[in-house]
Amino acid sequence: MRLLNNREDKTKLEAIDQFKKRLAIPDYKRQIPEYYEAMELAVNALEKQIAKQIVTKVQKEDLKVGHVIFKAGTKTYYCPDCNKAITLSDTCCRCCGQKLKLD
Ligand SMILES: [Zn+2]
Repeated sequence: MRLLNNREDKTKLEAIDQFKKRLAIPDYKRQIPEYYEAMELAVNALEKQIAKQIVTKVQKEDLKVGHVIFKAGTKTYYCPDCNKAITLSDTCCRCCGQKLKLD
């Protein structure tokens, strides 16, 4: 299990909350579209930095990924954000950059 920096995550969550309050202002996107889009990008980037729980699945049938075969009954792991296969040694998704954790 990886340790989380809860204080740092709390600060990021507070920033996300502040951005989302402004993104929810009626008509804000039409009035200041460049700010709106920048805040959406910031929210997405901050959310990627807060670790999400890895999705674990048990293979129901053999799965071939490249030259590797995962036999039925094998546990496989996926990014909770983009659903791409990951390994347990990955701290971030190699595809989308989502920070990962396994409890
Ligand atoms: Zn991903």
